[in-house]
Amino acid sequence: MLREIFIALSESATMRRISMSAPGSKTVSRRFVAGEKLEEGIAAVRRQVEAGYFATMDYLGESVTSRDEARAAADMYIRMLEQLAGQTLPGGEPLKTRANVSIKLTQMGQDIPAPPNTPPPAGPTWPQPERGMIPVEGRFDDVFLRDNVGRILDRARELGIFVRFDMESRFHTQRTLDFIRRLWAEGYHDIGIVLQSYLLRTEHDARVANSLGMRVRLCKGAYQEPPEVAIQDKPGVDRNYVKVATLLMAEGNYPGIATHDSTMIRAAIEFARTQQIDRSRFEFQMLYGVRRDLQQQLLKEGYNVRVYTPFGDAWYPYFMRRMAERPGNAMFIVNAVLRESPLGGIFGRNGR
Ligand code: FAD
Repeated sequence: MLREIFIALSESATMRRISMSAPGSKTVSRRFVAGEKLEEGIAAVRRQVEAGYFATMDYLGESVTSRDEARAAADMYIRMLEQLAGQTLPGGEPLKTRANVSIKLTQMGQDIPAPPNTPPPAGPTWPQPERGMIPVEGRFDDVFLRDNVGRILDRARELGIFVRFDMESRFHTQRTLDFIRRLWAEGYHDIGIVLQSYLLRTEHDARVANSLGMRVRLCKGAYQEPPEVAIQDKPGVDRNYVKVATLLMAEGNYPGIATHDSTMIRAAIEFARTQQIDRSRFEFQMLYGVRRDLQQQLLKEGYNVRVYTPFGDAWYPYFMRRMAERPGNAMFIVNAVLRESPLGGIFGRNGR
């Protein structure tokens, strides 16, 4: 129930306005976001990498409907790539050897409508599943999206940096996979997708990705999806997670096992052990600020661990999805707001 409320709040423009101007909101967002500026994002990536982690960097933003805003977001990604390539670690190694970027296509203009009479994009499509697929409605400006994302991919290719495409809600699943399938056919192979274990179609999609040799990050899924497309109960989502994670580990290309769930992580480790899959053939991925204890433990055990490190001022929807995953996180809001409000004096500097 609380999960649904937080996910609904994450989509509310009014709540977004109110929350982002509330006292203490910046302090609160820092729990899961590295900062607002590029330098802060890069500094956080450096800290992770110097501590032994890999990182993937995300410039926060989604559901962009203006072409100028989408172009500006792509420009920021290009600056990020240049920083990752230009900065060196204490040993002289460039930061890019341990860090890449993650992109949301709706930030790049995926939902911008196509001009009238635009033909559908040419090239292959991603094979559709037998179940759990909703038809794509509307026509979108794929030419704009291709050009905008293409600028990032071309720079990433020049600099030798991998690009991951995050996965958003069910309205974007097939369109995102079709778009990436076309990029793949054009020869962009240093790119990867994200699959969500709550979706009924995910095993099918994992098999398609494996057959292409495309890298997959597997997560449980962060949106509110109906029974037509998604498994509704946690045990079912978890069972599917283990099933798809093991399929990716056995037959896929360097999968990212993205979860903070120690049961999922132990199942993956056990599978690797029994199947003699070397730790260099997969990685664990976790979100910045979430289960740092577990991140450290896996690192100590010798696993590759990548930390998803977001920055930027558009933190509200991302932050609310983190609340949805663990409503207990909401106590951070209460504490931080109290600390920075006049009531802070009454409750003491710690807000308690
Ligand atoms: P859960 O069953 O939700 O949680 C297991 C345990 O992990 C909880 O009991 C708690 O201890 C801890 N935990 C989980 N979340 C939190 C939190 N926010 N704060 C504190 N503790 C927490 N989703 C998408 O839909 N698309 C994406 O592209 C995407 N990319 C992701 C990239 C990475 C690297 C990760 C780690 C997640 C990503 N997600 C994405 C989010 C994902 O779908 C889940 O919503 C999120 O990871 C919570 O699921 P879980 O696997 O951690 O398991």
